[in-house]
Amino acid sequence: MPVAPERARVDGLTPFQHFVERWRSCTACHLHTTRQQVVLCRGTIPAQVLFIGEGPGHSEDSLGEPFVGPAGKLLDDIIAQGIPESITYAITNLVCCLPVDEETGGKAVEPDDESIKACSVRLIEFVELCRPRLIVCVGKLAKDWLEPGYRYSIRIPRDIPQVSIVHPAWILRANVAQRGLAIQRCVVTVQSAVEQYLGVG
Ligand code: SF4
Repeated sequence: MPVAPERARVDGLTPFQHFVERWRSCTACHLHTTRQQVVLCRGTIPAQVLFIGEGPGHSEDSLGEPFVGPAGKLLDDIIAQGIPESITYAITNLVCCLPVDEETGGKAVEPDDESIKACSVRLIEFVELCRPRLIVCVGKLAKDWLEPGYRYSIRIPRDIPQVSIVHPAWILRANVAQRGLAIQRCVVTVQSAVEQYLGVG
């Protein structure tokens, strides 16, 4: 992922490189037993807008970047339409390792609470690294966990405005008639939030 120039610390590593070193071999929750690799993020750091989804799928698990399958392509289209090129953004998930359904061996519908809580330490660190002025929750699970007041709310330690869009995977499963409207709603939500919180239209 492209990373904006950062001042290296005394040991020669940038804060982002430290972050990667700390988390790329993480075993803090049971998801480490079935993943191929830790899927941390993509985009630009620092980032003015941070998109937070749920968890990696099989494509992400094998390629090592979040949102690289069909849902990722759709998210990229929404971002391209919703934010001007001058705005920097990054993408990550609530969890960085593929949640596997123990019965089917396929991707679990969503990561379990314990894994989300374990990975929230990494997420908070990533938010600190990105210093976003806007967070976009991608999907209901991200909204539920990041919205203040939810029973396990992840405490993002900054007063950062948040908006939510439906998950692109949901849009892809919707019928054709619903799809166009859902995409348009996502674009308008992102566009309006960027205009309101970053003053860019
Ligand atoms: Fe660590 Fe997060 Fe992966 Fe769990 S999901 S093993 S906390 S990086």
